[in-house]
Amino acid sequence: MKNYDLLIIGGGPAGLTAAIYAARGGASVLLIEKAGVGGQAALTADVENYPGILSSGGYELAALMAQQAEKFGAQFLYDEVTAFNLTGTVKTISTAYSGDFSAPAIILCMGARPRKLQIPGENEFAGRGVSYCATCDGAFFKNKTVTVSGGGNTAVEDALYLSRFAAKVRLIHRRDTLRAERILAEHIKNSSVEIVWNSVVTAATGNDKLSAVIVKNVLTGTEASLNTDGLFVAIGQVPYTDNLPLKLSDGGYIPVNSDMSTKIPGVFAAGDITEKPLRQIVTAAADGAVAAQAALKRLFN
Ligand code: NAP
Repeated sequence: MKNYDLLIIGGGPAGLTAAIYAARGGASVLLIEKAGVGGQAALTADVENYPGILSSGGYELAALMAQQAEKFGAQFLYDEVTAFNLTGTVKTISTAYSGDFSAPAIILCMGARPRKLQIPGENEFAGRGVSYCATCDGAFFKNKTVTVSGGGNTAVEDALYLSRFAAKVRLIHRRDTLRAERILAEHIKNSSVEIVWNSVVTAATGNDKLSAVIVKNVLTGTEASLNTDGLFVAIGQVPYTDNLPLKLSDGGYIPVNSDMSTKIPGVFAAGDITEKPLRQIVTAAADGAVAAQAALKRLFN
C-alpha cells in the first residue's frame, strides 16, 4: 500500500485543478485517471469560453493543466479504481493493475457522461453533427438547421441558446409535456423553436457528416426523415458514481457543501460528478480549486 496526503480520482479539469492547487500547497498528491487527461473536455474540438483562452482544443487545454500539476509535483497514475473504502480516517482505494493506495483525504472527480440515445448513426456522426454540448458547439451551427432531443431543462435551455445562432431549431420530445421548469417551458413556447411532441429520434443519417434525423411519432408509429445539420442530444447525464458509499441526489450526483466536502469527513467531490447548476470546464476547475483548498486545510491545519 502506498500512502499520500491526497488522492484525486479523475483527471478532467476538476481533478487537474485540484492537483495543481494541492501539490502547490505542499501536499503529496496522486491523481488516478483511467483513460487520458481531460475527461469530457478533451472531446471538445474548440473551447472558446474558458476565460483568458481565446480558443483552444479541449485536449490541449487539459494537457497544459496536467503539465502544470506535474510541475508542482503531483504524480499521475493511469489505472482504473475498482474499490473505494472511504469511511475511516484513512481512505483506501484499490486499482485494477497497480495495487492499493491510501490517504487521509480524497477528492472524487470522476465526472459524468452524457446519456446517449443509443440509435443507429449516433456514434458514427459524433463530432460530425451529433453533439452533447450546445454551449460548446452551438456557435458552429450559425445559420444552420439543428435538432435537439430531450424535454428537460438542459434540452430547453440548449434549444433556446441554439436559436441565437441557428436559422432553425426544432426540439423533439417523447411526451406532450416538457419536463423543464415552467418558466423555461413558457419561454420556449414563445420562441422561434419548433417543438415536435410525442416523438423520438430513431436514427442519425448522412454521408461524411450528419444531414438528417429519422423521427418517429410514438403515438402513431409514423416515421419521417427531417433534414438537419446538427443533432444535440440532451436527455440527461450519467455520473460515474456507481458503488460509491455516499448518499446521492435523485440524478445520481454527489451533493456537496460550499467547500466541496461531502457527508464523509475527508471525502470531497468536484466537477461534473457533483450536484450543480452549470457543468463547464471553468466551473469544474473552480470546484477543484475549492476542494483542494479544503483538503489542505484538513491536512495541515
Ligand atoms: P433531465 O431533467 O433528466 O431530463 C431529461 C429529458 O430527456 C427528459 O425530458 C426525458 O423525457 C428525456 N429523455 C430521457 N431519456 C430519453 C430517451 N432515451 N429518449 C428520449 N428522451 C429521453 O435531464 P437534464 O435536462 O439534463 O437535467 C439534469 C438536471 O440538471 C435536472 O435536475 C435539471 O433540473 C438540472 N438542470 C437545471 C438547469 C437550471 O436550473 N437552469 C439547467 C439544466 C439542468 P421525460 O420527460 O419523458 O422523462
